[in-house]
Amino acid sequence: QTSIVVFTCDLRLSDHPPLRAALHGGGRVVPLFVRDPAVDRAGFAAPNRLAFLADCLRDLDTGLRKRGGRLVLREGDTVTEVCRVAAETDADEVHMTGDTSAFACVRERRLRRALEADGRRLYVHDTVSTAVAPGAVAPVSSDHFAVFTPYYRRWSGQSLRDVLDTPRVITVPDEVASAPLPERGEVSGVSPKLCAGGETEGRRRFTAWLRSGVQTYETRHDDLAGDATSRLSPHLHFGTLSPVEVVRRAREAGGVGAEAFVRQVAWRDFNRQVLAARPDAAARDYRTHRDQWRDGKDAEADAEAWREGRTGYPVVDAAMRQLRQEGWMHNRGRLLTASFLTKTLYLDWRVGARYFLGLLVDGDVANNQLNWQWMAGTGTDTRPNRVLNPVIQAKRHDPDGAYVRRWVPELADIEGAVVHEPWKLPARELSGTGYPEPVVSLAEGLDRLKRARGRA
Ligand code: FAD
Repeated sequence: QTSIVVFTCDLRLSDHPPLRAALHGGGRVVPLFVRDPAVDRAGFAAPNRLAFLADCLRDLDTGLRKRGGRLVLREGDTVTEVCRVAAETDADEVHMTGDTSAFACVRERRLRRALEADGRRLYVHDTVSTAVAPGAVAPVSSDHFAVFTPYYRRWSGQSLRDVLDTPRVITVPDEVASAPLPERGEVSGVSPKLCAGGETEGRRRFTAWLRSGVQTYETRHDDLAGDATSRLSPHLHFGTLSPVEVVRRAREAGGVGAEAFVRQVAWRDFNRQVLAARPDAAARDYRTHRDQWRDGKDAEADAEAWREGRTGYPVVDAAMRQLRQEGWMHNRGRLLTASFLTKTLYLDWRVGARYFLGLLVDGDVANNQLNWQWMAGTGTDTRPNRVLNPVIQAKRHDPDGAYVRRWVPELADIEGAVVHEPWKLPARELSGTGYPEPVVSLAEGLDRLKRARGRA
């Protein structure tokens, strides 16, 4: 018997239900990854994610080879390639991980139809890329939770499946050919400080996090300069870490830090169950809104200043520059740059979401689009008019200005709290730094929002 495992957002060997199910019969297994140009065309591929993906595929191949197997890579339409490999190896079963994006749902439907037409079966496994499956918990009156707190209460009460061992031996049919694996160095336009990918790196990071990070997470997670969050998001996005294992092991570590960390991981599952129920929320407002976002030349100039980290608000600019340099941004930075774009500049959240997806190594349709909507006040947040003041935020979450000085070198020599409000410097001193004046005053931005939302 031969089975195929189609790897997608689950690039690991540990705690991998589709792989375990495929090995169950004791036969041969084809571990397959398809580089599908449709994924790139749909905008899900970006240089930082492609570079990270190259690391993941190489590490997966190394892990498989240690167990007697290897990774098979094909290029082309996923459905065509899976069917082709199935025909070449006479496989009767295909196993893969369930996913929630509209793209993944269409792919799954097409694949099932094509395989069944050839007399083969597709098995889709859940709790591979989420701890709790989308739809596993729902309120009485709806198919999904729109508000996080009641979702989290129910999510926390779910018993998680056991963590599965990593298989020891994997036998891959000799006859199946593979395209060469991509290399990180082949990808251009990658952020200079992009982190490394792969299951080995993900597990190393997670173990270090449990040993010496998670305990202080509750108190330090918003400290911009302290960088005291896990940075596990790309590993959870690519599935080089299993969310079930992450939640279980964090709970075993115990304490308020671990509890707060697990709560954040639950946000991933929350967003996935929203997107599974409302696939259109990736592009359309979750709640019906009548926002007349600004457009035209001035609006585009403001958007460009925001993208380039030249808004004149140091903490906003620092976060935007961190994104460009690292392909990652601190959550507090994401919140306040998103608030600034949508509430202060009054620009469409989709403008920001698109830019983030072009750079974020953890860029993920569910988490990105729904967090953007949450901050824009078009999503599931119960306080849609919430505005984060970048000066107050900076003083609270970067009290000594170290984050700003790290990412905005023009301000590196400015001492004291004025680093967060450089427009208060004497004019000559400010112009000597080369740092821009604010693109808009906060009062003006707030007025515009109030007028606009008052009308809405
Ligand atoms: P930690 O604080 O250590 O949290 C642990 C894990 O919990 C994270 O790795 C992540 O998987 C999950 N998590 C934490 N916060 C959230 C959240 N608000 N929503 C969903 N999951 C969360 N996260 C992404 O993974 N991909 C995105 O594309 C993405 N885009 C975002 C866009 C905006 C505008 C905002 C406000 C947030 C976005 N987030 C996104 C959520 C969050 O900012 C990141 O998950 C987090 O900063 C990753 O850093 P970390 O791994 O150190 O997180």
